[in-house]
Amino acid sequence: MTQSHAKTPNPPRPRIAVVGYGSQGRAHALNLRESGFEVTVGLRPGGPTEAKAQADGFTVKTPAEAVAGAELVAVLTPDMVQPRLYREAIEPYLAKGACLLFAHGFNVHYGQIAPRADLDVVLVAPKGPGALVRREFEIGRGVPCVYAVQQDTSGRAEQLALAYAAGLGGARANVIKTTFKEETETDLFGEQAVLCGGATKLVQAGWETLVEAGYQPEVAYYECLHELKLIVDLLYEGGITRMHEFISETAQYGDLTRGPYVIDAHARAQMKKILAEIQDGTFARQWIAEYAAGNPNYKALKQADLDHPIEATGRKLRAAMSWIGADGNVQPARPA
Ligand code: NAD
Ligand code: MG
Ligand code: MG
Ligand code: MG
Ligand code: MG
Repeated sequence: MTQSHAKTPNPPRPRIAVVGYGSQGRAHALNLRESGFEVTVGLRPGGPTEAKAQADGFTVKTPAEAVAGAELVAVLTPDMVQPRLYREAIEPYLAKGACLLFAHGFNVHYGQIAPRADLDVVLVAPKGPGALVRREFEIGRGVPCVYAVQQDTSGRAEQLALAYAAGLGGARANVIKTTFKEETETDLFGEQAVLCGGATKLVQAGWETLVEAGYQPEVAYYECLHELKLIVDLLYEGGITRMHEFISETAQYGDLTRGPYVIDAHARAQMKKILAEIQDGTFARQWIAEYAAGNPNYKALKQADLDHPIEATGRKLRAAMSWIGADGNVQPARPA
C-alpha cells in the first residue's frame, strides 16, 4: 500500500479508529491512510460494509476493539445510531484523554451524546458527500471542511482537528473554524431548505406543472431536471455572476422577474420556519422520535419520492446518455 507523507514537519499523528464505513467513513479512512495515519476500521461483524473495508485493505475490528486501540475515534455511523453506539461500544473502551471526532454536530449539539470530561471533542465536517471527498483527494485536490472544538482537555484539540482535516485533503481546499451549534444548524438548514429539500421539491413541482399542462414528460425532464446540472456547474465555478455570463438575455430577464414569483414572501417565511424548528430543537426531537418508532413516515415519504413519475421518465432518458455509466457515475468527457 503506497503512503504519502504530509508536508508539514510534525503535526499530531494520532492512531485513528474510524467507526462506520459508509459515505463519509470510507472516504475518511482511505484519505487518512494515504496521508500517513494508522487507521483501523470499527464495524459490526457481518455488517453490510465489513467486506468493503476488508477489500480496501483495512484491519476491521468490532467498534469496541477499534476504539480501545485508538488515540482518536471518528464516529461516522448514521447520526441516529451514534448515541447508543457511544454508550455501549465507544465510551467504555475509549482511553483516558483520547479525542472524539464527529463529522456532524447533531448528537453533541442536541444533547444526545454527552462526552466524558477527560476527552477532547472535535468536529471535522467536509462540505460534500463522501464520494467527492475521496475523488477530490485522489486527483490531488480536496473538499472544503469546517472544524470545531467542543471540549479541549489536552490543550491540542484544535491541532488534532486540523491534522485530521489536512489528512482528508480539506486543507488543500479551505478549512473554516466553526462551532458545533453553527455547523449543526447551518448543515440542517442547507439540506432541508436549499440543497436537498428545496432543490428536489422545486424540480418535481416544475416538472408536474409542465406535464399537467399537457407538455411531454421527456421535454419537461430536460428543462426542469437535466439542465439543472449545467446551471449548478456555473454557480459552482463562478457564482451567479458566471451563470449570467452564459445564459441568454431572455433567460436572465425571466430569471430576474419570475424567480421572485416562486421564492416569494411565503417561501421566505417558510424558510424562517424551517430555521426556527432547527434552532428550537423541534426538528431534532421529531426526527429522533421518528427513528425510535421505526421510521414509518420517513419510509413512506421516501417511497413516494422513489415512485414519483419523473423518476421513470429520467431512467428512460438516462439510458440513452452514453456518458452516464450503469453505476450512475459520469464517465470522462473525452479519452484521457
Ligand atoms: P452512512 O449511512 O453512509 O454509513 C453508515 C456506516 O455505519 C456504515 O458502514 C454502516 O454499516 C455503519 N453502521 C450502521 N449502524 C452501525 C452500528 N450500530 N454499529 C457500527 N456501525 C454501524 O453514513 P454517512 O452518511 O457517512 O454519515 C456518517 C456521519 O457523517 C453522520 O454524522 C453524517 O451526518 C455525517 N456527514 C455525512 C455526509 C454525507 O454526505 N453522507 C456529509 C457530511 C457529514
Ligand atoms: Mg452537509
Ligand atoms: Mg447533513
Ligand atoms: Mg432551456
Ligand atoms: Mg432557454
